[in-house]
Amino acid sequence: MTRSIKPLVAGNWKMNGLKADLAIAAEVARGYDAALKPAVDLAICPPASLLFTATAALIGSRIATGGQDCSTQGSGAFTGEISAAMLADAGASFCIVGHSERRTLHGETNATVKAKAEAAQKALLVPIVCVGETRVEREAGKALAVVKKQLRGSVPDGATAATLIVAYEPVWAIGTGLTPTAADVAEMHEAIRAELSRLLGKQTAAGVRLLYGGSVKPSNAAELMNVANVDGALVGGASLKAEEFLAIARACAI
Ligand code: PEP
Repeated sequence: MTRSIKPLVAGNWKMNGLKADLAIAAEVARGYDAALKPAVDLAICPPASLLFTATAALIGSRIATGGQDCSTQGSGAFTGEISAAMLADAGASFCIVGHSERRTLHGETNATVKAKAEAAQKALLVPIVCVGETRVEREAGKALAVVKKQLRGSVPDGATAATLIVAYEPVWAIGTGLTPTAADVAEMHEAIRAELSRLLGKQTAAGVRLLYGGSVKPSNAAELMNVANVDGALVGGASLKAEEFLAIARACAI
């Protein structure tokens, strides 16, 4: 945890959720009480089909919403795409970009991720830029080099602490129940902060929220959040269970 940074816990619902599942968001809102609000920020990134309704349902709760991806383009003949401006218009404050499922299943390169992050910023959304190594890369001792290269290629030039969030999500930890050791998370988050210092300047880098993501659960959240330079969590599976998401939020509270 970086004491000067208010942590953020963001839920990535992925391709899960119908209207009835907004009950999960409502339950999270009920549990996000007066003690928790000043101690941790919360965001829910539902599928795009639910974004407008989820944002409306969360009005007054101080829980933000976000998209899970956006187009590199502003508008036009891009069937099936959704622009950052559309997400903002539906009420989003954030947009996840470069999630490993997008990088792997949709062949997104660092350049694509950077263009998406820039498109998000242009629409006044804060991009949550995801980076992370595969199991093979970690076992080959290349994790730090891979993530630094992703940062150099994906982080928008001129980003500020208010316009950028980075999420470290080891690909092998996503949805697997596996997590890196606290020491490995500490090493990686320190390296990410240092690389951001080189890219954006020390002062800016010091304020950028660095989230950890990958099998965060109520049982491991406190240990992961106690690691230096971890400023919150990007939560997949556990964000679909209100009680688990709230328990993680409580573990992240400063
Ligand atoms: C994710 O997909 O961003 C993620 C962290 O998933 P999970 O928490 O399920 O590992």
